[in-house]
Amino acid sequence: MLRGILLGEADRILTLYSPWRGKVRAVARGVRRPTSRLGGHVEPLIHGSYLLARGQELDVVTQGETIHSFPRLRDDLGSIGGGLYAAELIYHSTSEGVENYPLFRLLLDTLMRLDGEGSVELALRYFELHLLGHLGYRPQLGRCVACQGALPPTVNFFTASGGGVLCPSCHPPESSVRRLSLNALKTLRFFQEKDWAQASRLKVSPPLMAEIKGALREFILYHLERELKSTLFMDLVGGHGSAASGATVLRPAHGR
Ligand SMILES: [Zn+2]
Repeated sequence: MLRGILLGEADRILTLYSPWRGKVRAVARGVRRPTSRLGGHVEPLIHGSYLLARGQELDVVTQGETIHSFPRLRDDLGSIGGGLYAAELIYHSTSEGVENYPLFRLLLDTLMRLDGEGSVELALRYFELHLLGHLGYRPQLGRCVACQGALPPTVNFFTASGGGVLCPSCHPPESSVRRLSLNALKTLRFFQEKDWAQASRLKVSPPLMAEIKGALREFILYHLERELKSTLFMDLVGGHGSAASGATVLRPAHGR
């Protein structure tokens, strides 16, 4: 579940991300009453199984059961911020009813990673890069996007509008295109090509992580700008670590 907003006294409108129907909105009636059997199962960042009945405007949740509750995503601030950021990115970059199973799988895997002991930052960079791929904006990292030549082992340039990396020869000298260090290029390539088991073993220094984060952020904002008008999202990309305290609609419940 990506989000839940309050409706009336006891109801909630949920936004779910599902394997076969993509983003789905549905109303859960009476979930805020203490007697509700659905209550604990319809919180943000829960992986659950839900039965929906076709309603007039919105589908209605008739049954729900938690599959994974991700304890760290209830307790650990860094993990909570990361999880909410991932959920918001999916929320804003997808349309209702459009199936994208690889994206569902990526979100679920990312929540599991954030629930584990590993680096939140590493999990989020891996998520962002593969999210772009599953949405059709896979950055071209193997060759120069202009001349298609091999990229020299030096500082290259990262262009969101061009869709990937520019070699120094194709980079207009006066432009303000972002510089991309060789280490950052190698790390991004490694993330793009390798599975998580290999990517998660990579040691990335804080300055290198910051460089990669900046490059991916620029890419995401450029390609998803139309979908990402929400100021809430802008707040989240400004510093996803602080999102948990700022976004009341998204606040995960502590405990059940
Ligand atoms: Zn070139």
